[in-house]
Amino acid sequence: MNVSIVGTGYVGLSTGVGFSVKGNKVICVDILEDKLNRINRGDSPIYEPGLEEKLKDSLSRGLFKATTDLEKAVMFTDVTFVSVGTPSKEDGSIDLKFIEEVSRQIGRILKKKEGYHVVVVKSTVVPGTTEDVVLRNIEKESGKKAGEHFGICMNPEFLREGRAMEDFLKPDRIVIGELDKRSGDTVAKLYDNFDTKILRTNIKVAEMIKYTANSFLATKISFSNEIGNMCKKMGIDVYDVMAGVGLDKRISPLFLWAGAGFGGSCFPKDVQALVSKAKTLGTDPHLLEKTLSVNQRQKTMLVDMLENRMDVKGKRVAVLGLAFKPGSDDVREAPSIEIIRKLKEKGASVVVYDPKAAGNMKMFFPNIAYAQTSRDAINGADACLIVTEWSEFRNLTDYDFSKMKEKVIIEGRKALDPNKVHGFEGICW
Ligand code: NAD
Repeated sequence: MNVSIVGTGYVGLSTGVGFSVKGNKVICVDILEDKLNRINRGDSPIYEPGLEEKLKDSLSRGLFKATTDLEKAVMFTDVTFVSVGTPSKEDGSIDLKFIEEVSRQIGRILKKKEGYHVVVVKSTVVPGTTEDVVLRNIEKESGKKAGEHFGICMNPEFLREGRAMEDFLKPDRIVIGELDKRSGDTVAKLYDNFDTKILRTNIKVAEMIKYTANSFLATKISFSNEIGNMCKKMGIDVYDVMAGVGLDKRISPLFLWAGAGFGGSCFPKDVQALVSKAKTLGTDPHLLEKTLSVNQRQKTMLVDMLENRMDVKGKRVAVLGLAFKPGSDDVREAPSIEIIRKLKEKGASVVVYDPKAAGNMKMFFPNIAYAQTSRDAINGADACLIVTEWSEFRNLTDYDFSKMKEKVIIEGRKALDPNKVHGFEGICW
Protein backbone atom coordinates (compact mmCIF):
# COMPACT_ATOMS: atom_id res chain seq x y z
CA MET A 1 0.00 0.00 0.00
CA ASN A 2 1.00 3.65 -0.29
CA VAL A 3 1.17 5.25 3.13
CA SER A 4 1.84 8.78 4.32
CA ILE A 5 2.78 9.68 7.88
CA VAL A 6 2.55 13.19 9.29
CA GLY A 7 5.11 13.92 12.02
CA THR A 8 8.51 12.26 12.00
CA GLY A 9 9.18 12.01 15.73
CA TYR A 10 9.86 8.80 17.65
CA VAL A 11 6.49 7.40 16.59
CA GLY A 12 6.17 8.77 13.06
CA LEU A 13 9.64 7.85 11.90
CA SER A 14 9.55 4.38 13.47
CA THR A 15 6.09 3.78 11.99
CA GLY A 16 7.16 5.02 8.56
CA VAL A 17 10.32 2.95 8.47
CA GLY A 18 8.43 -0.01 9.93
CA PHE A 19 5.74 0.06 7.24
CA SER A 20 8.43 0.34 4.55
CA VAL A 21 10.22 -2.70 6.02
CA LYS A 22 6.91 -4.51 5.54
CA GLY A 23 6.96 -3.65 1.83
CA ASN A 24 4.78 -0.54 1.69
CA LYS A 25 5.72 2.70 -0.05
CA VAL A 26 5.97 5.37 2.60
CA ILE A 27 6.13 9.16 2.50
CA CYS A 28 6.88 10.85 5.82
CA VAL A 29 5.97 14.50 6.30
CA ASP A 30 7.24 17.05 8.77
CA ILE A 31 7.56 20.82 9.01
CA LEU A 32 11.23 20.68 10.01
CA GLU A 33 13.26 20.79 6.83
CA ASP A 34 16.65 20.06 8.44
CA LYS A 35 15.23 16.98 10.07
CA LEU A 36 13.84 15.76 6.73
CA ASN A 37 17.14 16.39 4.96
CA ARG A 38 18.87 14.23 7.52
CA ILE A 39 16.24 11.51 7.17
CA ASN A 40 16.56 11.53 3.37
CA ARG A 41 20.34 11.12 3.75
CA GLY A 42 19.76 8.05 5.92
CA ASP A 43 20.91 9.89 9.04
CA SER A 44 18.30 9.31 11.74
CA PRO A 45 17.63 12.44 13.82
CA ILE A 46 16.74 10.25 16.82
CA TYR A 47 18.57 7.35 18.38
CA GLU A 48 16.66 4.08 18.24
CA PRO A 49 18.46 0.75 17.94
CA GLY A 50 18.21 -0.59 14.36
CA LEU A 51 16.28 2.41 13.04
CA GLU A 52 19.06 4.00 11.01
CA GLU A 53 20.05 0.75 9.27
CA LYS A 54 16.45 0.05 8.31
CA LEU A 55 15.94 3.65 7.18
CA LYS A 56 19.00 3.43 4.91
CA ASP A 57 17.80 0.12 3.48
CA SER A 58 14.29 1.42 2.75
CA LEU A 59 15.68 4.60 1.15
CA SER A 60 17.95 2.56 -1.10
CA ARG A 61 15.03 0.32 -2.14
CA GLY A 62 12.93 3.38 -3.01
CA LEU A 63 10.31 2.48 -0.40
CA PHE A 64 10.75 5.53 1.77
CA LYS A 65 11.10 9.27 1.46
CA ALA A 66 10.53 12.32 3.62
CA THR A 67 9.12 15.67 2.55
CA THR A 68 7.53 18.89 3.76
CA ASP A 69 4.92 18.59 1.01
CA LEU A 70 1.83 17.25 2.79
CA GLU A 71 -0.35 17.73 -0.26
CA LYS A 72 1.75 15.47 -2.47
CA ALA A 73 2.05 12.94 0.31
CA VAL A 74 -1.73 12.70 0.77
CA MET A 75 -2.43 12.77 -2.98
CA PHE A 76 -0.04 9.90 -3.72
CA THR A 77 -1.09 7.62 -0.87
CA ASP A 78 -4.15 5.64 0.24
CA VAL A 79 -3.79 6.09 3.98
CA THR A 80 -2.43 8.97 6.09
CA PHE A 81 -1.30 8.41 9.67
CA VAL A 82 -1.20 11.43 11.97
CA SER A 83 1.60 11.11 14.52
CA VAL A 84 2.28 14.68 15.57
CA GLY A 85 2.93 15.52 19.22
CA THR A 86 0.10 15.90 21.76
CA PRO A 87 1.89 17.73 24.58
CA SER A 88 0.46 18.95 27.88
CA LYS A 89 -0.92 22.42 28.39
CA GLU A 90 0.10 24.35 31.53
CA ASP A 91 -2.91 22.91 33.37
CA GLY A 92 -1.96 19.34 32.39
CA SER A 93 -4.75 18.87 29.87
CA ILE A 94 -3.89 17.70 26.36
CA ASP A 95 -2.79 20.34 23.84
CA LEU A 96 -4.34 19.51 20.48
CA LYS A 97 -2.91 22.40 18.47
CA PHE A 98 -0.83 20.15 16.17
CA ILE A 99 -3.71 17.71 15.69
CA GLU A 100 -6.09 20.59 14.93
CA GLU A 101 -3.75 22.08 12.39
CA VAL A 102 -2.88 18.86 10.59
CA SER A 103 -6.49 17.71 10.39
CA ARG A 104 -7.53 21.02 8.85
CA GLN A 105 -4.68 20.76 6.33
CA ILE A 106 -5.64 17.21 5.43
CA GLY A 107 -9.25 18.32 5.02
CA ARG A 108 -8.24 21.01 2.53
CA ILE A 109 -6.22 18.48 0.56
CA LEU A 110 -8.99 15.87 0.56
CA LYS A 111 -11.31 18.48 -0.90
CA LYS A 112 -9.17 18.27 -4.07
CA LYS A 113 -8.50 14.55 -3.96
CA GLU A 114 -10.63 12.12 -5.88
CA GLY A 115 -11.30 8.68 -4.52
CA TYR A 116 -11.33 7.16 -1.08
CA HIS A 117 -8.67 7.99 1.52
CA VAL A 118 -8.32 6.87 5.12
CA VAL A 119 -6.98 9.14 7.87
CA VAL A 120 -5.62 7.34 10.92
CA VAL A 121 -4.82 9.03 14.22
CA LYS A 122 -1.75 7.42 15.74
CA SER A 123 -0.98 10.20 18.20
CA THR A 124 -2.20 9.60 21.73
CA VAL A 125 -5.42 11.58 22.09
CA VAL A 126 -8.11 11.66 24.78
CA PRO A 127 -11.36 9.86 23.96
CA GLY A 128 -13.54 11.89 21.65
CA THR A 129 -10.67 13.71 19.89
CA THR A 130 -10.61 11.65 16.71
CA GLU A 131 -14.31 12.11 16.07
CA ASP A 132 -14.87 15.56 17.59
CA VAL A 133 -11.71 17.23 16.29
CA VAL A 134 -10.08 15.27 13.45
CA LEU A 135 -13.18 13.95 11.70
CA ARG A 136 -15.06 17.21 12.18
CA ASN A 137 -12.17 19.37 10.88
CA ILE A 138 -11.74 17.18 7.82
CA GLU A 139 -15.45 17.22 7.03
CA LYS A 140 -15.57 20.98 7.49
CA GLU A 141 -12.54 21.73 5.31
CA SER A 142 -13.20 19.14 2.62
CA GLY A 143 -16.96 19.41 2.38
CA LYS A 144 -16.95 15.59 2.28
CA LYS A 145 -18.59 13.04 4.54
CA ALA A 146 -16.69 10.67 6.81
CA GLY A 147 -17.61 7.04 6.21
CA GLU A 148 -18.63 7.87 2.67
CA HIS A 149 -15.88 9.82 0.91
CA PHE A 150 -13.11 9.19 3.40
CA GLY A 151 -12.45 6.82 6.26
CA ILE A 152 -11.30 7.48 9.83
CA CYS A 153 -9.50 5.23 12.28
CA MET A 154 -7.64 5.57 15.55
CA ASN A 155 -4.67 3.22 15.82
CA PRO A 156 -2.83 3.82 19.11
CA GLU A 157 0.89 3.16 19.21
CA PHE A 158 2.36 1.13 22.07
CA LEU A 159 6.04 1.14 21.11
CA ARG A 160 8.62 1.74 23.79
CA GLU A 161 11.42 4.18 23.10
CA GLY A 162 14.72 2.34 23.02
CA ARG A 163 12.92 -0.60 21.37
CA ALA A 164 10.77 1.27 18.90
CA MET A 165 11.55 -0.78 15.79
CA GLU A 166 11.29 -4.11 17.55
CA ASP A 167 8.01 -3.10 19.19
CA PHE A 168 6.55 -1.68 15.98
CA LEU A 169 7.39 -4.77 13.94
CA LYS A 170 6.48 -7.30 16.64
CA PRO A 171 3.79 -5.68 18.78
CA ASP A 172 1.88 -7.45 21.56
CA ARG A 173 -1.31 -6.38 19.81
CA ILE A 174 -2.62 -3.95 17.24
CA VAL A 175 -5.69 -1.93 18.14
CA ILE A 176 -7.77 -0.46 15.34
CA GLY A 177 -10.55 1.86 16.38
CA GLU A 178 -12.74 2.28 13.31
CA LEU A 179 -15.51 4.60 12.26
CA ASP A 180 -16.90 1.91 9.97
CA LYS A 181 -15.90 -1.43 8.50
CA ARG A 182 -14.41 -0.01 5.32
CA SER A 183 -12.05 2.31 7.23
CA GLY A 184 -11.04 -0.53 9.56
CA ASP A 185 -10.55 -3.02 6.72
CA THR A 186 -8.15 -0.63 4.97
CA VAL A 187 -5.99 -0.26 8.06
CA ALA A 188 -6.22 -3.96 8.94
CA LYS A 189 -4.90 -4.77 5.44
CA LEU A 190 -1.78 -2.77 6.22
CA TYR A 191 -1.17 -4.96 9.24
CA ASP A 192 -1.94 -8.23 7.39
CA ASN A 193 1.66 -9.38 7.51
CA PHE A 194 2.18 -8.66 11.21
CA ASP A 195 2.20 -11.77 13.35
CA THR A 196 0.02 -10.58 16.23
CA LYS A 197 -3.52 -10.20 17.45
CA ILE A 198 -5.55 -7.40 15.86
CA LEU A 199 -8.28 -5.97 18.04
CA ARG A 200 -10.95 -3.95 16.23
CA THR A 201 -13.02 -1.58 18.31
CA ASN A 202 -14.85 1.67 18.01
CA ILE A 203 -12.75 4.82 18.00
CA LYS A 204 -13.31 5.96 21.59
CA VAL A 205 -12.42 2.54 22.96
CA ALA A 206 -9.13 2.57 21.02
CA GLU A 207 -8.32 6.04 22.35
CA MET A 208 -9.07 4.90 25.92
CA ILE A 209 -7.09 1.65 25.61
CA LYS A 210 -3.92 3.68 25.07
CA TYR A 211 -4.49 5.93 28.09
CA THR A 212 -5.51 3.05 30.30
CA ALA A 213 -2.45 0.99 29.37
CA ASN A 214 -0.04 3.86 30.06
CA SER A 215 -1.80 4.85 33.27
CA PHE A 216 -1.72 1.26 34.52
CA LEU A 217 2.00 0.88 33.79
CA ALA A 218 2.80 4.22 35.42
CA THR A 219 0.73 3.21 38.45
CA LYS A 220 2.58 -0.10 38.66
CA ILE A 221 5.85 1.82 38.86
CA SER A 222 4.62 4.26 41.51
CA PHE A 223 3.21 1.34 43.48
CA SER A 224 6.59 -0.40 43.32
CA ASN A 225 8.31 2.81 44.43
CA GLU A 226 6.02 3.14 47.42
CA ILE A 227 6.72 -0.45 48.43
CA GLY A 228 10.42 0.11 47.65
CA ASN A 229 10.66 3.13 49.96
CA MET A 230 9.17 1.01 52.76
CA CYS A 231 11.52 -1.86 51.99
CA LYS A 232 14.55 0.41 52.19
CA LYS A 233 13.62 1.48 55.74
CA MET A 234 13.31 -2.19 56.74
CA GLY A 235 16.60 -3.24 55.16
CA ILE A 236 14.81 -5.24 52.47
CA ASP A 237 15.77 -5.22 48.79
CA VAL A 238 12.52 -4.48 46.95
CA TYR A 239 13.80 -6.34 43.88
CA ASP A 240 13.97 -9.54 45.95
CA VAL A 241 10.38 -8.91 46.99
CA MET A 242 9.18 -8.19 43.46
CA ALA A 243 10.95 -11.29 42.15
CA GLY A 244 8.50 -13.26 44.27
CA VAL A 245 5.53 -11.03 43.58
CA GLY A 246 6.04 -11.01 39.81
CA LEU A 247 5.88 -14.80 39.60
CA ASP A 248 2.13 -14.45 40.04
CA LYS A 249 0.69 -14.61 36.50
CA ARG A 250 -1.96 -12.06 37.46
CA ILE A 251 0.77 -9.53 38.23
CA SER A 252 3.72 -10.30 35.84
CA PRO A 253 7.31 -9.36 36.66
CA LEU A 254 7.37 -6.35 34.33
CA PHE A 255 7.13 -2.74 35.48
CA LEU A 256 7.70 -3.64 39.11
CA TRP A 257 10.92 -1.68 38.82
CA ALA A 258 11.32 0.60 41.80
CA GLY A 259 13.85 3.37 41.32
CA ALA A 260 14.19 7.05 40.51
CA GLY A 261 10.73 7.32 38.97
CA PHE A 262 9.33 7.37 35.47
CA GLY A 263 9.85 10.06 32.85
CA GLY A 264 9.63 10.28 29.09
CA SER A 265 7.24 11.87 26.69
CA CYS A 266 4.33 9.54 27.48
CA PHE A 267 3.65 8.39 31.05
CA PRO A 268 3.75 11.79 32.81
CA LYS A 269 1.83 13.60 30.08
CA ASP A 270 -0.70 10.84 29.42
CA VAL A 271 -1.56 10.25 33.08
CA GLN A 272 -1.85 14.00 33.53
CA ALA A 273 -4.14 14.27 30.50
CA LEU A 274 -6.36 11.48 31.84
CA VAL A 275 -6.50 13.17 35.26
CA SER A 276 -7.60 16.40 33.54
CA LYS A 277 -10.17 14.56 31.47
CA ALA A 278 -11.53 12.80 34.58
CA LYS A 279 -12.00 16.16 36.28
CA THR A 280 -13.96 17.55 33.35
CA LEU A 281 -16.16 14.47 33.64
CA GLY A 282 -16.68 15.10 37.35
CA THR A 283 -14.96 11.88 38.47
CA ASP A 284 -12.19 12.03 41.07
CA PRO A 285 -9.01 10.41 39.73
CA HIS A 286 -7.45 9.87 43.21
CA LEU A 287 -5.29 6.93 42.25
CA LEU A 288 -3.88 8.53 39.11
CA GLU A 289 -3.12 11.77 40.96
CA LYS A 290 -1.18 9.74 43.52
CA THR A 291 0.64 7.92 40.74
CA LEU A 292 1.94 11.30 39.64
CA SER A 293 2.72 12.70 43.08
CA VAL A 294 4.56 9.54 44.20
CA ASN A 295 6.58 9.80 41.01
CA GLN A 296 7.34 13.47 41.49
CA ARG A 297 8.77 12.82 44.94
CA GLN A 298 10.70 9.79 43.72
CA LYS A 299 12.47 11.72 40.99
CA THR A 300 14.58 13.79 43.36
CA MET A 301 14.90 11.28 46.17
CA LEU A 302 18.48 10.55 45.13
CA VAL A 303 19.39 14.17 45.95
CA ASP A 304 17.65 13.94 49.34
CA MET A 305 19.60 10.76 50.08
CA LEU A 306 22.82 12.46 49.07
CA GLU A 307 22.07 15.41 51.33
CA ASN A 308 21.69 13.01 54.24
CA ARG A 309 25.29 12.05 53.57
CA MET A 310 26.85 15.46 52.82
CA ASP A 311 26.27 19.16 52.28
CA VAL A 312 26.42 19.27 48.50
CA LYS A 313 27.25 22.99 48.32
CA GLY A 314 30.52 23.38 46.43
CA LYS A 315 30.79 19.61 45.92
CA ARG A 316 31.36 17.98 42.55
CA VAL A 317 28.53 15.56 41.85
CA ALA A 318 28.68 13.14 38.91
CA VAL A 319 25.36 12.14 37.35
CA LEU A 320 25.54 8.98 35.26
CA GLY A 321 22.62 8.62 32.85
CA LEU A 322 20.49 11.44 31.45
CA ALA A 323 18.04 9.71 29.08
CA PHE A 324 14.71 8.85 30.67
CA LYS A 325 15.48 5.22 29.86
CA PRO A 326 18.36 3.23 28.42
CA GLY A 327 18.49 2.73 24.65
CA SER A 328 17.08 6.20 23.99
CA ASP A 329 18.44 9.74 23.58
CA ASP A 330 15.12 11.21 24.79
CA VAL A 331 15.33 13.40 27.89
CA ARG A 332 11.74 14.67 27.93
CA GLU A 333 10.52 14.64 31.57
CA ALA A 334 13.59 12.59 32.52
CA PRO A 335 14.24 12.39 36.28
CA SER A 336 17.81 13.53 35.52
CA ILE A 337 16.48 17.02 34.71
CA GLU A 338 15.01 17.56 38.16
CA ILE A 339 17.99 15.93 39.81
CA ILE A 340 20.43 18.27 38.05
CA ARG A 341 18.20 21.28 38.71
CA LYS A 342 18.02 20.48 42.43
CA LEU A 343 21.77 19.84 42.69
CA LYS A 344 22.47 23.18 41.05
CA GLU A 345 20.01 24.96 43.33
CA LYS A 346 21.88 23.50 46.29
CA GLY A 347 25.15 24.86 44.95
CA ALA A 348 26.73 21.63 43.69
CA SER A 349 28.96 21.57 40.64
CA VAL A 350 27.45 18.98 38.31
CA VAL A 351 29.25 16.80 35.80
CA VAL A 352 27.18 14.42 33.70
CA TYR A 353 27.66 11.51 31.33
CA ASP A 354 25.26 9.68 29.03
CA PRO A 355 26.18 7.55 26.01
CA LYS A 356 23.43 9.02 23.79
CA ALA A 357 21.46 11.81 25.42
CA ALA A 358 24.07 14.50 26.19
CA GLY A 359 23.19 16.48 23.04
CA ASN A 360 19.52 16.71 23.97
CA MET A 361 20.31 17.60 27.60
CA LYS A 362 22.45 20.55 26.47
CA MET A 363 19.19 22.29 25.51
CA PHE A 364 18.15 22.20 29.19
CA PHE A 365 21.56 22.71 30.80
CA PRO A 366 24.07 24.29 28.43
CA ASN A 367 26.45 25.24 31.24
CA ILE A 368 27.11 22.06 33.19
CA ALA A 369 30.11 19.82 32.47
CA TYR A 370 29.54 17.01 29.95
CA ALA A 371 32.04 14.16 30.29
CA GLN A 372 32.92 11.84 27.41
CA THR A 373 33.02 8.69 29.54
CA SER A 374 31.67 7.50 32.89
CA ARG A 375 35.15 7.48 34.30
CA ASP A 376 35.79 11.09 33.24
CA ALA A 377 32.64 12.09 35.10
CA ILE A 378 33.46 10.05 38.19
CA ASN A 379 37.14 11.02 38.57
CA GLY A 380 37.52 13.72 41.19
CA ALA A 381 33.82 13.70 42.13
CA ASP A 382 32.65 13.89 45.74
CA ALA A 383 29.57 11.86 44.93
CA CYS A 384 28.02 9.93 42.07
CA LEU A 385 24.33 9.39 41.31
CA ILE A 386 23.23 6.67 38.86
CA VAL A 387 20.04 7.78 37.14
CA THR A 388 19.63 5.64 33.98
CA GLU A 389 20.36 1.92 33.75
CA TRP A 390 22.53 1.95 30.62
CA SER A 391 24.01 -1.53 30.19
CA GLU A 392 27.56 -0.13 30.08
CA PHE A 393 27.20 0.94 33.73
CA ARG A 394 26.92 -2.76 34.61
CA ASN A 395 30.59 -3.10 33.62
CA LEU A 396 31.79 -0.42 36.02
CA THR A 397 34.07 -1.71 38.75
CA ASP A 398 35.56 -0.42 42.01
CA TYR A 399 38.54 0.67 39.94
CA ASP A 400 36.37 3.07 37.92
CA PHE A 401 35.29 4.74 41.17
CA SER A 402 38.76 4.69 42.74
CA LYS A 403 39.63 8.29 41.85
CA MET A 404 36.60 9.84 43.55
CA LYS A 405 37.34 12.29 46.36
CA GLU A 406 34.84 10.44 48.50
CA LYS A 407 33.28 7.16 47.47
CA VAL A 408 29.63 8.17 47.85
CA ILE A 409 27.61 6.37 45.19
CA ILE A 410 23.83 6.37 45.21
CA GLU A 411 22.09 4.11 42.78
CA GLY A 412 18.63 4.84 41.38
CA ARG A 413 18.23 1.98 38.91
CA LYS A 414 19.91 -1.29 39.90
CA ALA A 415 22.40 -0.49 37.17
CA LEU A 416 25.62 -1.43 38.99
CA ASP A 417 26.80 -4.98 39.50
CA PRO A 418 27.25 -5.46 43.27
CA ASN A 419 29.96 -8.03 42.57
CA LYS A 420 32.02 -5.38 40.77
CA VAL A 421 31.24 -2.23 42.74
CA HIS A 422 31.09 -2.21 46.53
CA GLY A 423 29.79 0.25 49.06
CA PHE A 424 27.05 1.94 47.08
CA GLU A 425 23.62 2.78 48.43
CA GLY A 426 20.42 1.91 46.55
CA ILE A 427 17.33 4.08 46.41
CA CYS A 428 14.87 1.32 47.39
CA TRP A 429 17.25 -1.42 48.47
P1 NAD B 1 7.70 14.05 18.66
O1 NAD B 1 7.52 15.33 19.36
O2 NAD B 1 8.99 13.31 18.79
O3 NAD B 1 7.43 14.26 17.10
C1 NAD B 1 6.36 14.97 16.58
C2 NAD B 1 6.74 15.46 15.20
O4 NAD B 1 5.60 16.08 14.59
C3 NAD B 1 7.85 16.52 15.21
O5 NAD B 1 8.89 16.12 14.34
C4 NAD B 1 7.14 17.78 14.69
O6 NAD B 1 8.00 18.63 13.93
C5 NAD B 1 6.06 17.17 13.83
N1 NAD B 1 4.97 18.11 13.53
C6 NAD B 1 4.36 18.99 14.34
N2 NAD B 1 3.42 19.67 13.64
C7 NAD B 1 3.44 19.21 12.38
C8 NAD B 1 2.72 19.52 11.19
N3 NAD B 1 1.80 20.49 11.17
N4 NAD B 1 3.02 18.85 10.06
C9 NAD B 1 3.98 17.91 10.06
N5 NAD B 1 4.70 17.55 11.16
C10 NAD B 1 4.43 18.21 12.30
O7 NAD B 1 6.51 13.13 19.13
P2 NAD B 1 6.49 11.54 19.38
O8 NAD B 1 7.24 11.21 20.61
O9 NAD B 1 6.80 10.84 18.12
O10 NAD B 1 4.94 11.34 19.73
C11 NAD B 1 3.94 11.54 18.76
C12 NAD B 1 2.61 11.07 19.33
O11 NAD B 1 2.68 9.67 19.61
C13 NAD B 1 2.22 11.73 20.65
O12 NAD B 1 0.84 11.85 20.69
C14 NAD B 1 2.70 10.73 21.69
O13 NAD B 1 1.97 10.83 22.89
C15 NAD B 1 2.41 9.42 20.99
N6 NAD B 1 3.24 8.30 21.41
C16 NAD B 1 4.57 8.48 21.67
C17 NAD B 1 5.36 7.40 22.02
C18 NAD B 1 6.82 7.58 22.34
O14 NAD B 1 7.40 6.65 22.90
N7 NAD B 1 7.43 8.68 22.01
C19 NAD B 1 4.80 6.11 22.11
C20 NAD B 1 3.45 5.96 21.81
C21 NAD B 1 2.68 7.06 21.45
